[in-house]
Amino acid sequence: MAAVRRIVVIGGGIVGLATARELSRRGDEVVVLEKEGRWAAHQTGHNSNVVHAGLYYRPGSLKARMSVAGNASIVAYAREHGVPVEVCGKLVVATSEEEVPRLRALAERASRNGVPARMVSVAEAREHEPEVSCVAALRVESTGIIDFPAVCAAMVRELTAAGADLRTNSPALAIRTRAGRVEVATPSGVVRGDALVNCAGLHSDRVARMAGLEPEARIVPFRGEYYELRPERRSLVRGLIYPVPDPTLPFLGVHLTRMLDGSVHAGPNAVLALSREGYRWGDVSAGDVAEVLRFPGTWRLARKYAYPTGLAEVLRSLSKRRFAESLARLVPAVGEADLVRAEAGVRAQAMRRDGSLVDDFLVQEAPGQVHVLNAPSPAATGSLEIGAHVAGLVR
Ligand SMILES: Cc1cc2nc3c(=O)[nH]c(=O)nc-3n(C[C@H](O)[C@H](O)[C@H](O)COP(=O)(O)OP(=O)(O)OC[C@H]3O[C@@H](n4cnc5c(N)ncnc54)[C@H](O)[C@@H]3O)c2cc1C
Repeated sequence: MAAVRRIVVIGGGIVGLATARELSRRGDEVVVLEKEGRWAAHQTGHNSNVVHAGLYYRPGSLKARMSVAGNASIVAYAREHGVPVEVCGKLVVATSEEEVPRLRALAERASRNGVPARMVSVAEAREHEPEVSCVAALRVESTGIIDFPAVCAAMVRELTAAGADLRTNSPALAIRTRAGRVEVATPSGVVRGDALVNCAGLHSDRVARMAGLEPEARIVPFRGEYYELRPERRSLVRGLIYPVPDPTLPFLGVHLTRMLDGSVHAGPNAVLALSREGYRWGDVSAGDVAEVLRFPGTWRLARKYAYPTGLAEVLRSLSKRRFAESLARLVPAVGEADLVRAEAGVRAQAMRRDGSLVDDFLVQEAPGQVHVLNAPSPAATGSLEIGAHVAGLVR
């Protein structure tokens, strides 16, 4: 009988926990190291909580395959484990004639990805969302809303029951491999294992370098800021209303999302964060900024996006009026006075030296190591699929 392997997983977000769960199901012993005092403390606990359908992504890409499969698997997981989830569908709306060809292209992509989506008349769009303004709309049935931190809590319960070694307040400080084994230094001692999995999100490139790898991309933190509709204005939005995305950007554009608790979130925008965990403009890390500025890709990215796209995003971040104007394109009744600031999130987006943003999920292997180096949206939706994929790579 093969000896039981002991795998060290760094990162207690949804990708790390889903990978640990899958390894444990396959018979491995797992140790999960999370630097914060709780699970899902970063991207997983600061997102839109949308179960994406998979319509946006290049057919055949990991994102397309894992979001379509993940849409079904995460909903089934939530139902099985008593996690709140609702498959409410969404509308993507073209607000001008020039957006209509892009909306049709999106419908075509959805169909190639096997996503149930159809163009609907303006009248039908208004049956779903009476306050929406559009010239054309795409209705997507399989989009849902969920509580991703509650999914993580369920995974932690499963892992605990299976005897996994789960450690919060345990940052990985240094990593070395010796005689085919991995050793991870933490403040409370060295953790040893037969293999290492890096799911460190915003720090995944740093953890990879700690382990001796030169990752092909760097993480650039993009903050996504949200507002909430005042409770008395929530009735303006029944479900999820998205704009037609700009195909040159990896973000979906500010949208309106009804959450499971009935609140309506508006956002997220996308501005460069001045710290890897920079949830506010005031969160500045000189080291993080210097690192971003030293990386050649940053300057190439800036030449491409700083003007007018980047500037417009910064202005909208600083001006509630501009934010409200973006939302009013979707729902004209939304005004500045209806919005209250809500908590922001920071996306870990990988960028190559040539300044291109890594579009797909990126997983890099080394002997005894697997590194998840780009897992932005829809990675929470696809987490069970990513976990199975990564667990399969651990040797
Ligand atoms: C604003 C926003 C909106 C989004 N909306 C959606 C959405 O609606 N639907 C969707 O599917 N996806 C969405 N996403 C994407 C989704 O949140 C992420 O893809 C997903 O949470 C990534 O999970 P993760 O485990 O890789 O990262 P994280 O959740 O960031 O987890 C990484 C963990 O690693 C830990 N860590 C880092 N360094 C170390 C170290 N040295 N030692 C130990 N631990 C370490 C961190 O503390 C962190 O807890 C959104 C993201 C953002 C930011």
